[in-house]
Amino acid sequence: MRKEQFNQLFPDTPAYRWKQIEQAFFVPTILSWDGVTSLSKEMRARLVDVPFMSVTAKQVMVSAKKDTHKALLELGDEQVVESVLMENARGDWTICVSSQVGCAMRCGFCATGKMGLKRSLTADEIVDQYRFWIQYLTPTPIPQLPTSNPQRISNIVFMGMGEPLANYINVRDTLNTWLTYTDIGKTRITVSTVGVLPRLEQILTDKDWPHVRLAVSLHSAIAETRKQIVPTSYDDFLPKLQDWARRYLKLLGNRRHHLTFEYVMLKDVNDTDEHARALSTFVHSIGNVRCNLIPYNLTDCEFSRSEDSQIAKFLSILEKSDVVATRRKTMGDDIAAACGQLIVLSKKPRDQTLG
Ligand code: SAH
Repeated sequence: MRKEQFNQLFPDTPAYRWKQIEQAFFVPTILSWDGVTSLSKEMRARLVDVPFMSVTAKQVMVSAKKDTHKALLELGDEQVVESVLMENARGDWTICVSSQVGCAMRCGFCATGKMGLKRSLTADEIVDQYRFWIQYLTPTPIPQLPTSNPQRISNIVFMGMGEPLANYINVRDTLNTWLTYTDIGKTRITVSTVGVLPRLEQILTDKDWPHVRLAVSLHSAIAETRKQIVPTSYDDFLPKLQDWARRYLKLLGNRRHHLTFEYVMLKDVNDTDEHARALSTFVHSIGNVRCNLIPYNLTDCEFSRSEDSQIAKFLSILEKSDVVATRRKTMGDDIAAACGQLIVLSKKPRDQTLG
């Protein structure tokens, strides 16, 4: 439920009431309106028809290593999105959330792109993916001790289904809600975007946009290659992105705040030495940018994964020219939960174990 809906139901109610509700939403042991004891019984009774949670798990798949969990979450209109929980290097959890059902961007290598766009998610439906995973990680509800749960979500990435900047207002509302009600700070949230230039521009002046980390899915610093793999690329995308990125870093860049370029490694398409040098030149023309190389996760398309040796060579060309670059660890590929594999299948995914 959003504030506007609450205010309609309870006009003239003091603002702290809504705050109490939002606080209760983030207590993992409170699973229904009955648990929101800060509200009177009468108020709770009037809320019975309002869903306490906007997503319901239809299925959770767990990878063989148990470090990746993928949930199929059903929405009020029976659409389904996927949301992923992954163990991170610090032994905490990172969640990977969806911002849309499907995606309109049609990136040639991404399974979600093949679905087309069904609709954008509401802010509740994005916020509640976090609430779902927090509840999932809280095995035995102990109402008196809501903080006794040692399992912690420390990071959130918008790398599930959809293009977050094509759902700007709801993503912004979601970010502000999480920043208010969870202990996750701005540097632990990453919005990954294909590069929707008008929205990137808006971020520079929008007082309500919280400056979380941004990652741009570049995938090539050579114009023809980028257009080939990301067909929705704007004309002159690279010089426009370069201009934007310089201004972004001027406004916000500091030792802690950088920009990330994501780069999916597609064999013989964007992984040659020439591509590495073009990426390095592009990065140096901008400034504080880090590169994250993503080994391609197989989907039903014409691309194949770069050889490990070529990924290593690409990485070393970047490093030798002083570009900060990392290779992303592939997780959850046995349950089709890795980057770009998120698509709602009509048949059961293979190799699954139910959690
Ligand atoms: N729409 C957003 C989020 C996409 S998912 C964006 O474009 O950034 C997060 C990352 O996974 C993006 O960089 C995306 O390009 C990448 N990705 C998509 N399909 C992939 C695949 N099959 N293998 C590896 N990475 C993939």
